[in-house]
Amino acid sequence: MPKQILILGAGYGGVLAAITARKHLTPAEASITVVNRYPTHQIITELHRLAGGTIGEGAVALPLNKLLGGKDIDLVVGGVKDIKPNEKQVVLENGAVHKYDLLVVALGSETNYFGIPGLEENSLVLKSVDDANKIRKHVEDRLNAYKKSGNKADATIVVGGGGLTGVELVGEFADKLPEICRAKGIDYNDLNIYCVEAGPNILPMLPKPLIERSVESLTKRGIQFVTGVAITEATANTVSLKDGRKIEANTIIWTGGVKGNPIVGSCGLAEDRGRSTVTPTLQSTSHPDVFLAGDCAVVFPEGGDRPYPPTAQLAWQMGELVGYNLSAYIKGGAMDKFNPVFSGTLASLGRKDGVGQIGGNGTQLKGFPASMMKEASNIRYLSHIHGLFSLVNH
Ligand code: NAD
Repeated sequence: MPKQILILGAGYGGVLAAITARKHLTPAEASITVVNRYPTHQIITELHRLAGGTIGEGAVALPLNKLLGGKDIDLVVGGVKDIKPNEKQVVLENGAVHKYDLLVVALGSETNYFGIPGLEENSLVLKSVDDANKIRKHVEDRLNAYKKSGNKADATIVVGGGGLTGVELVGEFADKLPEICRAKGIDYNDLNIYCVEAGPNILPMLPKPLIERSVESLTKRGIQFVTGVAITEATANTVSLKDGRKIEANTIIWTGGVKGNPIVGSCGLAEDRGRSTVTPTLQSTSHPDVFLAGDCAVVFPEGGDRPYPPTAQLAWQMGELVGYNLSAYIKGGAMDKFNPVFSGTLASLGRKDGVGQIGGNGTQLKGFPASMMKEASNIRYLSHIHGLFSLVNH
């Protein structure tokens, strides 16, 4: 009897686990089923571009039936409701129960609102293609309303959080909104686009010269940074700041942080602050028949006490390792340990500008070379998954 592998989530971790496992395991050795909320594999590192309107949905939402079709990988489109690791079962939101011999949990992370009053109800987020479409539509609707009524709150956008998500998003706004405003007969200078960051600087993971470069580039293009002040409350039309200021805005977008997926944190797998703890082979520390890939796991470097950040490049590498380890588990071979390679950090500041730090020696990039590298890393990912899929031909 083939072993039943069930993979929850078709983001970077889940898709790469599925395809790598299939590369090493024949259908006679294992059936593979992928469960995902959406029928698409979403390139979430490019969502800011969809939200800004620079690219269309087809560039960031790859149909899973096309990706997985003909590869002996079954697809179930549906949301996961509960994981029962002691019973080796997963329950979906529609009530369906899936049994497994080996489980891969790759359900990603969720937005963290840190309990800030009014924020969840009144802000948009950027975690999926649907979210990006909502942002684009909302901004356009508000601009149309501004054109009619002249209400300044309709021409004001507050992006909460100056991490990579927030900064890449305002970079797209700075590029695209002048064009959109022109088309609507609105003066772009009427807009107030704020990026509010609680910490002393935006992009705290980058060295100072790159932070300064980012601020200068985006400020020139109309973005207003408010740093060192936290957002403390939101209503449908206002954002309150810790220093007592209140910004009237009819568009509030929250990119202030992520947390582990609550289903994973509460299902009985060993966890640390909501993210599953894993062995060096990426198995749950409590359930060796459960493998973890991506943001829903907390992974520490060997001997280190700070976990790796929840990034796409790590999810991708975790997925591949899990795929390989599933085959080793089933065939009785030695499993590999997770030893990630860091290619660096790249942030786009719109279509033609960016900053980044790459390679082992931390080479700093600014401007066109950085945005080209960012573009290239996306192309590399897409050609990598297509290349892997073309290798699978049982
Ligand atoms: P993040 O946690 O990295 O950044 C959130 C920012 O919001 C922080 O700087 C934080 O200080 C700020 N913040 C928190 N509470 C606040 C408050 N009340 N008011 C104002 N600011 C507040 O989140 P992210 O940017 O979504 O990134 C999540 C993960 O995804 C990170 O690991 C990141 O590296 C990764 N990512 C990478 C890329 C890329 O490589 N280009 C792009 C997007 C995300």
